[in-house]
Amino acid sequence: MSGLDFNLSEEQEMVIETAHRLLRTLEPRRDRHLQMIYEEQRFPEEVWEAMAEAGLLGALIPVEYGGTGLGLLGMALALEEFARHGLPNGFCVLGSMAAMALLRGGTPAQKAQWLPAIAAGSCKCAFAITEPDAGTNTFRMRTHAVRDGEIYRLSGSKAWITGADVADFILVVARTLTEAQIEAQGLPRSAGLGLFLVNANARGLEKQRMNTIGLEGYRQFMLYFDEVEVPVAQRIGPEHRGAAVLFQALNPERILIAAALVGLSEFVLTKAVAYARERKVFGETPIGAYQGVQHPLARVKIAQEATRLLTYKAAWLFDREAPEAGHYADMAKHMASELAIAAVDAALQTHGGSGFVRDQHLIDLWTSVRLFKTAPLNNEMILNQLAEHLLGLPRSY
Ligand SMILES: Cc1cc2nc3c(=O)[nH]c(=O)nc-3n(C[C@H](O)[C@H](O)[C@H](O)COP(=O)(O)OP(=O)(O)OC[C@H]3O[C@@H](n4cnc5c(N)ncnc54)[C@H](O)[C@@H]3O)c2cc1C
Repeated sequence: MSGLDFNLSEEQEMVIETAHRLLRTLEPRRDRHLQMIYEEQRFPEEVWEAMAEAGLLGALIPVEYGGTGLGLLGMALALEEFARHGLPNGFCVLGSMAAMALLRGGTPAQKAQWLPAIAAGSCKCAFAITEPDAGTNTFRMRTHAVRDGEIYRLSGSKAWITGADVADFILVVARTLTEAQIEAQGLPRSAGLGLFLVNANARGLEKQRMNTIGLEGYRQFMLYFDEVEVPVAQRIGPEHRGAAVLFQALNPERILIAAALVGLSEFVLTKAVAYARERKVFGETPIGAYQGVQHPLARVKIAQEATRLLTYKAAWLFDREAPEAGHYADMAKHMASELAIAAVDAALQTHGGSGFVRDQHLIDLWTSVRLFKTAPLNNEMILNQLAEHLLGLPRSY
């Protein structure tokens, strides 16, 4: 009788083993890598290359386009493994969005042009949807793309764009129809959006660094588009109907963030347990013997197991193109953000004052994981969506 099976496949075990083997070779330089990420806001190229070698960057990409075809669950497992060593990577998550947009909305020529380079790690892709006046409410965006024959001209601005300085291309969401045109044509609110792979060094595109804490070694930028020319061949998906492709790309982002946060929760839990075993402040008893120290750590362990299962299920559903994958992606991201905040908080408390010494990276991780309660979609909005679409309650906004 077949039924629920919590075993990983041989191929999935191999992904984890490969990631683990590569991480062992990086071990002697791990402290330096952590310092680069959390203190210098730079992501080490050596770790990026290891991710490509582990097949992580090409996991979503079929073998015929140079990927490993492992699927989202395979990618989530590999990313969790890197995060368990303190080395998650926001940029591979953003790259997976470009890959997914191409896979679900790209032409054969577009797939052949970009997917092999994304899989190899030689084409880095950022993602730009947020605008100063359109964060949670994407439909308020003002950046627009006007078609003129075989080119579009993009004008407007985007905010908080991670890694715009290291990206080769930026997947930009822009309006191709104004709100007035949508209304006049009686189209749904989601119509009139376009997805464009814009050269990160295109003429007319200005990048201004923001003074943010950053994300896993990457910095954030304001982007200003002044009639930036983008060939029609770089629009992903059908004209005026980019939203459907966009939604396909947003689900892997949430699931991979959840996987990275599960891995990070393990990273800080391991650190906290090791410290609690060693640190003695009253006689010869280590602080780890006190229940006041044990219980928060044990609670993190419970939440971690539950979140891991939910995340794997979300990835498994996504790989099967199940319609409920989006809801599971939302639930996994919500739960993982709460888990990671609780895990870092418990690890900080266990470390006492040492937790605030920067080379422990705990206090830096606090800001890093806290971001995911707010971005890419805030947890309140996730609850709104689950309440409306899963529970059938009325919309409040
Ligand atoms: C470090 C960092 C990296 C980022 N990287 C990127 C990137 O690479 N690309 C990109 O496009 N964007 C990026 N962002 C932007 C991020 O996705 C947005 O900041 C986020 O979506 C929230 O939008 P907002 O800041 O406009 O918040 P707002 O929309 O102004 O919302 C503010 C708060 O109001 C509440 N709220 C809003 N609407 C509702 C509602 N309907 N119901 C209940 N509560 C609500 C929520 O608590 C929310 O946090 C990044 C942000 C940061 C800080």
